[in-house]
Amino acid sequence: GGKDENATSHVFVIDPQYGWRPAIQEGAPKNGKALVSIPEYKSEDSMDCDGGRAAKKGEQIYISMKDYPFGVLPLANVDVNGNLVEFADMVKLPYLHEAAILYNLKRRHREGKPYTRTGDIIIAVNPFQWLTHLYTEKKRSYYSNRLVWEQTDKDPRDGMEPHVYEVSALAYKGLAFGNVDQSILVSGESGAGKTETVKIAMNHMASVQQGPKSEADADVTQLDPVVDRVVQSNPLLEAFGNAKTLRNDNSSRFGKYLQLQFDNSSAGAVPSYTRSTCKLVGSKCEVYLLEKNRVTQHTEMERTYHVFYQLLAAPDKQKYWPKLAGKRNEDFKYVGKSSTTKIEDMTDEEHYHHTVKVLRMVGVDDNMLKELFVAIAIVLQCGNLVFGAKGGDRDKSEVTTRTEIKDLAELLGVDDAVCELAFTERTMKTRSETYKVPLKTDAAKEAADSFAKEVYGKIFLWVVDQVNSATNAETNYQGGGRDDFGIIGLLDIFGFESFKVNRFEQLCINYANEKLQQKFTEDVFRAVQEEYESEGIELAEITYDDNTDVLDLIEGRGGLLAMLNEECVRPGGNDQDFVQKALMANKTSPCLIVNKTDRMSFGVHHYAGKVMYDADKFVSSNQDTLPTDLEELGKASTNSIVSKTEAADTSGKPKRQKSNIVGQTIWGKYKTQLASLMTNLRTTSSRYIRCIKPNMRKVPVAMEHVPTIEQLRCAGVVAAVTLARSAFPNRLDNQAVKFRYNSMWDKNAYPSKQTNSMTKEQQAKCIAEAILTCALKEKETKNKEGKIVRQFVVGHT
Ligand code: ATP
Ligand code: MG
Repeated sequence: GGKDENATSHVFVIDPQYGWRPAIQEGAPKNGKALVSIPEYKSEDSMDCDGGRAAKKGEQIYISMKDYPFGVLPLANVDVNGNLVEFADMVKLPYLHEAAILYNLKRRHREGKPYTRTGDIIIAVNPFQWLTHLYTEKKRSYYSNRLVWEQTDKDPRDGMEPHVYEVSALAYKGLAFGNVDQSILVSGESGAGKTETVKIAMNHMASVQQGPKSEADADVTQLDPVVDRVVQSNPLLEAFGNAKTLRNDNSSRFGKYLQLQFDNSSAGAVPSYTRSTCKLVGSKCEVYLLEKNRVTQHTEMERTYHVFYQLLAAPDKQKYWPKLAGKRNEDFKYVGKSSTTKIEDMTDEEHYHHTVKVLRMVGVDDNMLKELFVAIAIVLQCGNLVFGAKGGDRDKSEVTTRTEIKDLAELLGVDDAVCELAFTERTMKTRSETYKVPLKTDAAKEAADSFAKEVYGKIFLWVVDQVNSATNAETNYQGGGRDDFGIIGLLDIFGFESFKVNRFEQLCINYANEKLQQKFTEDVFRAVQEEYESEGIELAEITYDDNTDVLDLIEGRGGLLAMLNEECVRPGGNDQDFVQKALMANKTSPCLIVNKTDRMSFGVHHYAGKVMYDADKFVSSNQDTLPTDLEELGKASTNSIVSKTEAADTSGKPKRQKSNIVGQTIWGKYKTQLASLMTNLRTTSSRYIRCIKPNMRKVPVAMEHVPTIEQLRCAGVVAAVTLARSAFPNRLDNQAVKFRYNSMWDKNAYPSKQTNSMTKEQQAKCIAEAILTCALKEKETKNKEGKIVRQFVVGHT
């Protein structure tokens, strides 16, 4: 109400191509329609809210207000001249909505400001260019000096540009002076910048602990050897767990939770704001779900894991195995031709030297280095086996590439005949007898592939173990005299995925994201609630959309996971039966989508949107047990990495029992890992960094609206803002509140207690109270018992 009938205002309209498009509203809506003029822009990049002045005046159209859930067009945050105004902290945006968030981020991104704050959340838009001035030693000490070492009662971030360094500094402070474990949760889709962000935060934390620095000595940082090892372990894991994909040249194909360990033994004492004794003394790393399929196959434009190319580019590769001399990428089928010559500005050969250097740094000696690269050669060699029908019998197979199997056997240190039989026959056991069944060529090839994947999985875990044993303070740190460390955890884990075809792996990834989203919602909600409480605003009976229903569907009793595990244990279990049973058991779930035309498919309403899954290979993907023949082959190898069996197997326990098998499935193990991660995270104070990939072309400056909006929704940014908005922007200054809201609501129905003798602050408070009462009334609904509830909705609309 209160608005001039003929006034024009800067708004955003929904546009299928551009998500939100700036427009000018001509007068108030009538009969559910509003007249807007749409400025013409040359491209999405130039589309901005400049009052349409730079753009050609476009056509005037009527838009239907039905498309706008809040009944008003989203207003642009413009100044009196119609210029878009920009906010470093988005909770300060006078008009808070998706379009405003998008354009605010877009403008900052274009100006080389990748970081924006939304309360405590940092949104990091991938700049796709190194903005070196943002990551200097001076910048690092600026953030740590102000946020860690300076004592102040105000929010020290006021007036500071948002930065990853702010998150790392505050986390450090929380640990050093608050003595509470911390975590930084970094999320975003592939290529959004998670791994880089974690590296930036980690490098910062390694320097914060040195205490406040004067400008003069800001440029010299001497890392001590432990810190150096901790920092260097990152690129090492990348060599083994990262690969070039279409979306990211250095894509992490595993999830990682890195716990930085600090000696905080003097915590509790009066904190010294000049120098803390809270010192980084080590780290411990947990990894999740390495994408093993990439070992044996990758699409033409992508690559397998970096380390394979590194080994093949090594000038001294023959010292690991003489037959590697002269071998090229295309000599190995798992690797194949690759047109990529550089990853992150370094050639594979340069990366190789670096990998070796860091391996030595974490304590891998010459002997083990050889074992490691031989194990990698074993994997490569498995891909070169070709199988054919044995003696013309299609039910039997043999290796037709004789030298390749000889070479593989040589590398493994086993007899070639034994090696061949492990791939071409399968041992079957019944209660009374053991016998062998020959495998057809396809099955034999599959056996060789699964062996290769298994060996690579072992190599990866072995490397992780090496890193951990070199960095873990529990075993390496002598000082301080205690084994209980303060923790700052850094989580770098795959974001929500929704492709044309979604498989088992996507369900696993999306499951992890649901778990994290649950915590995110809790945290954001709690923060808002605490803020309200601290300001004495009563918020009774708030309900919000959480994702319990989806989690129930996935991990609950009779849920997807339980059904899949059951199917994996059942003899003859198969994908289609899994789908049918899962659908039956979860008929009542509001989050399950039935596909009537395809019995192999089902869908899930995730918090971030609907995803259809193709159940093909769900059962086999979930099974983690190698056929005994291949397991035996591994054990027989003289290579210590290949022959290594899981720690659990050496405990002398009797054979796996049936009830254990569920714990042995990929998802069963993963669920346990995630549960322990969540328990762990819940003991920490979490901070969030949401990474956004602004365009799919990986170029600087450009921001594509639609994918950006999608990511903002998936990241819960819009939801967090919706929550803030449902109670109105709460961080406006007093003058602004009075100016903006004084004419906004029906004063007869909701009179404010404001009088002219009051201070500005009191006036603003009265107005805010009246607005809040009005807003709450409008959202009151009756619940099932007929009781009136005030509802705040979290989740995108
Ligand atoms: P994935 O899930 O595939 O592992 P990711 O989110 O970890 O993706 P990164 O590998 O961190 O993505 O980033 C992808 C690329 O984006 C980097 O290789 C780098 O080129 C660029 N990039 C990321 N963050 C920054 C930054 N802060 N400054 C400049 N470039 C960056
Ligand atoms: Mg990554």
